[in-house]
Amino acid sequence: MTTPYRCPSCKTNRTRFNIIQQVPQSVKLDPASGEIVQNYEQNQLEPFHLAYNGPQLKVQCAACGLVEDEMTFKKFGESTMS
Ligand SMILES: [Zn+2]
Repeated sequence: MTTPYRCPSCKTNRTRFNIIQQVPQSVKLDPASGEIVQNYEQNQLEPFHLAYNGPQLKVQCAACGLVEDEMTFKKFGESTMS
């Protein structure tokens, strides 16, 4: 079952969205240059390196440009159903 989206900013858009897949890249940087010195696999992070725990999807309203977590659009879509 799917949930309708609705933009909480412009409030009118329910149909046009850009869905943004979050693809985390875990890296270790050189502190001075900012260069990547190591890329980690998600299951091979070092003890003090937290794995990405943000949302899997972000959504952009294609009418007003707002970018939020998918849940924000879903909640607004649900709460205004009648
Ligand atoms: Zn909008």
